[in-house]
Amino acid sequence: MSLIVAENIQKDYKTGEVTVRALKALSFEIEPASFVSFVGPSGSGKTTLLNLIGCLDKPTDGKLKVADTDVLHLDRKQSASFRGSNIGFIFQDFNLLPVLTVYENIEYPLLMVQSVPASEREKRVTALLEAVGMIEQKDKYPDQISGGQKQRVAIARALVTNPKLVLADEPTANLDHKTAYMVIELMKKMRDEFRTTFIFSTHDQKIVGEAEILYTLEDGELTGRQVRGGKGNG
Ligand code: ADP
Ligand code: MG
Repeated sequence: MSLIVAENIQKDYKTGEVTVRALKALSFEIEPASFVSFVGPSGSGKTTLLNLIGCLDKPTDGKLKVADTDVLHLDRKQSASFRGSNIGFIFQDFNLLPVLTVYENIEYPLLMVQSVPASEREKRVTALLEAVGMIEQKDKYPDQISGGQKQRVAIARALVTNPKLVLADEPTANLDHKTAYMVIELMKKMRDEFRTTFIFSTHDQKIVGEAEILYTLEDGELTGRQVRGGKGNG
């Protein structure tokens, strides 16, 4: 059973008289526990597509199922609840809350989107701090750690709700090449450990080789699909 099924999804943005077709009839399927990248230059539609998969926005046309749910027909509240239990997000600029410690940033989604008892919260946060190698920095604040460490924290935060899917929109854009590579490797390790599907977007040709399934986006169209071994062949 596929985790994501997209059939001819299209996205138009209307601004005044002008309509921009950001995505043109995209069809693809993504299997559970896969490690997928959408690659394309700026303006090719990467963010638009991840926003649709992440139920932050809706296609103008087409069919989209995520985790067996037809996400087109969810209202705002249902979308929020669906995201809270199924999807984790990682951002280009990390989006950590500056007034919270590393530990508290990771714990935050458990307080906001899921009501998880305190003992279980501590167990999950501690396990993830260990998994991403940040246990010794747990009491530090975001401005006391490096960019690569911030993205490690963001990966842990994305996984703390046990989502089926983690979406990362250009997660390495603000990192140097070596750190970028380490962040992608960590995401892959987390996929192996938790069997969570990871989908990341990038325009960086140097890290696309790390994806197991690589989709190329050009001007709103899917122009290529490469499978590079590993598991999952959606
Ligand atoms: P990428 O993330 O690959 O840089 P985007 O998904 O942000 O690409 O953008 C794809 C296309 O859609 C671009 O032409 C962009 O200008 C347009 N676009 C994106 N968001 C909006 C919006 N909110 N309103 C109008 N046009 C948009
Ligand atoms: Mg973008």
